[in-house]
Amino acid sequence: MKAVYPGSFDPPTNGHLDIITRASKLTDTLIVAVLNNPSKNPMFSTNEKLEMLKELTKNMPNVKITSFSGLLVDFCKQNDCKIVIRGLRALTDFEYEFQIALTNKTMDKEIETLFMPTDTQNLWLSSSVVKEIATFGGKYDGMVPKIVKDRLEKKVNNKGVC
Ligand code: ADP
Repeated sequence: MKAVYPGSFDPPTNGHLDIITRASKLTDTLIVAVLNNPSKNPMFSTNEKLEMLKELTKNMPNVKITSFSGLLVDFCKQNDCKIVIRGLRALTDFEYEFQIALTNKTMDKEIETLFMPTDTQNLWLSSSVVKEIATFGGKYDGMVPKIVKDRLEKKVNNKGVC
């Protein structure tokens, strides 16, 4: 089966990587699709996110990294993909994810969304928390892979935030 795992990945965290690793074992092809949405004011450009995700998944031959703009259901149709994977953390994710899944289903009844529960150690982990900690010089070991940490540090230092 072919599935798409969409998201902002700003930046990719160990939570995302855990879902990618587990989902790639259940699928023939897993497309990790970075939503290109400049209006969200991302810290990382789509290209930077693609570079990081490619590096992180270079040993996962059935994982493809790409980006998309617009509606996920259109991306799915163009890529002949009917399954969407989303990760679920605490209950707070549920309402939002449920709404998106049902909206996508309303637009295209062929699309099925499958939820994967996070690993307990990533329960409270989010890209925004990592960015917040990095901006104020805190420790976030174990939250992101090393290549993401290096890029975050560079970004924060270049901005001159202390
Ligand atoms: P979006 O802006 O689409 O929510 P994110 O990059 O924040 O994009 O998340 C993409 C997907 O990864 C979502 O399904 C989200 O629930 C999931 N996710 C994010 N952080 C974690 C985590 N720590 N553990 C498991 N899944 C996660």
